[in-house]
Amino acid sequence: MVIVMHRDATEKQVEQVIGKLESQGFDVHRSTGVEHTILGAVGAKVVDTRDYEMVEGVKEVHRISEPYKLASRAFRPEGSVIEIGDVKIGSDQVVIMAGPCTIENFEFCDIVAERVKAAGASIIRGGAFKPRTSPYSFQGHGEEGLKAIRKAADNHGLLVISEVMEASQLPLAEDYIDIIQIGARNMQNYGLLRDIGKTNIPALLKRGMSATISDLLLAAEYIMAEGNHNVLLCERGIRTFETQTRNTLDISAIPVIHNLSHLPVIVDPSHAIGVRDKIAPLARAAVAAGADGLLLEVHHDPDNAICDGAQSMKLDQFDDLMQELRVISGAVDRSIAGQEPVEV
Ligand code: PEP
Ligand code: MN
Repeated sequence: MVIVMHRDATEKQVEQVIGKLESQGFDVHRSTGVEHTILGAVGAKVVDTRDYEMVEGVKEVHRISEPYKLASRAFRPEGSVIEIGDVKIGSDQVVIMAGPCTIENFEFCDIVAERVKAAGASIIRGGAFKPRTSPYSFQGHGEEGLKAIRKAADNHGLLVISEVMEASQLPLAEDYIDIIQIGARNMQNYGLLRDIGKTNIPALLKRGMSATISDLLLAAEYIMAEGNHNVLLCERGIRTFETQTRNTLDISAIPVIHNLSHLPVIVDPSHAIGVRDKIAPLARAAVAAGADGLLLEVHHDPDNAICDGAQSMKLDQFDDLMQELRVISGAVDRSIAGQEPVEV
């Protein structure tokens, strides 16, 4: 159930409603929007909504039929904007996250950081803990890698997104990472989701390879139910019967999730298509379809990258794509974060 308080409801009235909900056994999640305070009440109990409609200060009461409550659009009808430093994800700005699949060393991170920043990225990506299909493949440089990407990011005024695969890595995330990436393979690792929910580090949750949109939203709910509402949802391609591409990018997921949820939607075309020459068309389509950001693999020497070289864009390709995205974002009344809007 979601309770929307009147614009001029007093703190005392809000507290009264919270008290009533708690006394009925609900967990209450408070969200202070621009205009209204919204209370999300989570619990199995069925109550008569009129009991709350009558309470002073209450504007409206909605029952939420979806199994996800905090992630649902009704909890924050105006949409969530996740603010990290100067970067506002979910706003009218499209936020670009770019960098190598894995962190190789500081020098390489610095080369990529300089170039992607100049082209308009706000966030550098790179994994220090890699979820590889084979246990014999490179597994990531761990803390050394995180130190390298943090330093390169700080040199060029970028934020860092990097994957955490297990709870024991969370203290490192606190030290080096601005956004925790939860990989497709871990989307339903509910213990990890709960542990990330207990931090307040923003988390980008990737859609599992065989996960429905409802599964993704319920996974987000695990994080939010623990108190961390800074969640970004990421469409990165799902497994279908098609074999020509690594995965199938579900472009429909963008407007569908925007309709069902207030959380920002980020698209990762690199892991969807799996080859660098076809990333640009998918990235353009994602921005045109309303993506709030893109996560792109970019490498200065992809032919010699340790992992995912084939799907990593070259720096020049990335520059060209950014020019195109400026125009496309302008055509859908947005702009690339940190850049002047383009009138189309
Ligand atoms: C990655 O971003 O490098 C990655 C491993 O992604 P995914 O979890 O989507 O496969
Ligand atoms: Mn990768």
